[in-house]
Amino acid sequence: MSISSPGMDADVFEQFIEQLQRYVRERLLPAEQTIIETDAIPADILAEMRDMGLFGLTIPGEYGGAGMSVSQYVRTIHTLSYAMPAFRSIISINLGMFASALKNGGTDAQKAEWLPRIAAGDIAAFGLTEPGSGSDSAGLQTTAVQTDNGWILNGTKRYITNSPFAKVGLIMARTSKENLPKNAHVSAFIVPLDTPGVTIGKSDKKMGQSGSHIADIVMDDVRVGGEALLGGELDKGFAFAMMSLDNGRMSVGAAATAYARRALDSAVRYATERKAFGEPIANFQLIQQMLAQSEIDIYAAECMMEDVTRRADAGENVLRKAAAFKVFASEMCGRVVDACVQVYGGAGYLAEYDAERFFRDARIYRIYEGTTQILQLQIAKHMLREFAAAN
Ligand SMILES: Cc1cc2nc3c(=O)[nH]c(=O)nc-3n(C[C@H](O)[C@H](O)[C@H](O)COP(=O)(O)OP(=O)(O)OC[C@H]3O[C@@H](n4cnc5c(N)ncnc54)[C@H](O)[C@@H]3O)c2cc1C
Repeated sequence: MSISSPGMDADVFEQFIEQLQRYVRERLLPAEQTIIETDAIPADILAEMRDMGLFGLTIPGEYGGAGMSVSQYVRTIHTLSYAMPAFRSIISINLGMFASALKNGGTDAQKAEWLPRIAAGDIAAFGLTEPGSGSDSAGLQTTAVQTDNGWILNGTKRYITNSPFAKVGLIMARTSKENLPKNAHVSAFIVPLDTPGVTIGKSDKKMGQSGSHIADIVMDDVRVGGEALLGGELDKGFAFAMMSLDNGRMSVGAAATAYARRALDSAVRYATERKAFGEPIANFQLIQQMLAQSEIDIYAAECMMEDVTRRADAGENVLRKAAAFKVFASEMCGRVVDACVQVYGGAGYLAEYDAERFFRDARIYRIYEGTTQILQLQIAKHMLREFAAAN
């Protein structure tokens, strides 16, 4: 759940989306090949993205952002995500995880210090996963020990998106080693990544998503002041950080929905161009079945996206529905990119064609921000708890 904002003026927002659609078509899609070759988003594109306000979408106006509502934010992510995933990656952790946790649970001083910097384009990382804990996030082992004037952090965070170029990380750490229930005594800390004792590992080689980077954040006696504790109270910030995962899941769902559309558009174009048995393969009903089923799947995800974001803006707790949308959209995207490869035939297996890249890029959507299995378990847990309470 996140605390909803009234959002941008509706007409201004629609103009922004039209401008973004044009930008995606005319500027981002043509830049993709360079990003594949260099594994980096060119500096001029990053500067343009900053100028368009993409780094401050959900940050309130008084901190220099656009103050978008959840539905406006998720539609923006959906529009942007027709292009390769690196463009979403570079802004979504800053907003969906870091800024969201600060907006909802930060002190006034924390918001005043960090939100304007994020809105202006500083990059933030979200450090929850560790070598020994991913799905079992509450099993984390990073420690924060209180001193007279702050905290000392020790531990390793793994697979942290944007950490090679992030200025700051929101780091989840255990503040007591006592034998307590696993998720007790976990707090969130705002840690500038140039603090002595922080080392960023080598960028990991991945299956897909060129231009987006993950690495370890290693903390060895990292000293931060008392003001680093999110919300200023023990055990408070972690809950707010976990609430941010709803935003993260809606963002992944939107990205998967948009990328499925991209793959389907590509498959439709190829099917009309490629000939077999003397005619375009689009004439064959078994090809049409794959195209039609993909269209049906994408439409269902688009409806879920509209519904869950509207509910979030109305203040409803969308934990279960955001998880459902993320699971459906990411699994659906997996089916659509697979169908796209099939429509391309042998060409779909070659790196020369987009279908192969779509297939690799989409795979992570079913894993990060909660795997399909973990989210299914979470949905079932809430259903069964509700049933028990009512009977
Ligand atoms: C590209 C990328 C970017 C990432 N970015 C970030 C980031 O910015 N910040 C961050 O903190 N983390 C990040 N992660 C980590 C990501 O969130 C985790 O990889 C993910 O949550 C899964 O954790 P795991 O890898 O430890 O898998 P595991 O927890 O080891 O799971 C392995 C398998 O077991 C299944 N499983 C586990 N427990 C159960 C259970 N109880 N019942 C049934 N099945 C189960 C899982 O579904 C999965 O299929 C990123 C990962 C990648 C690859």
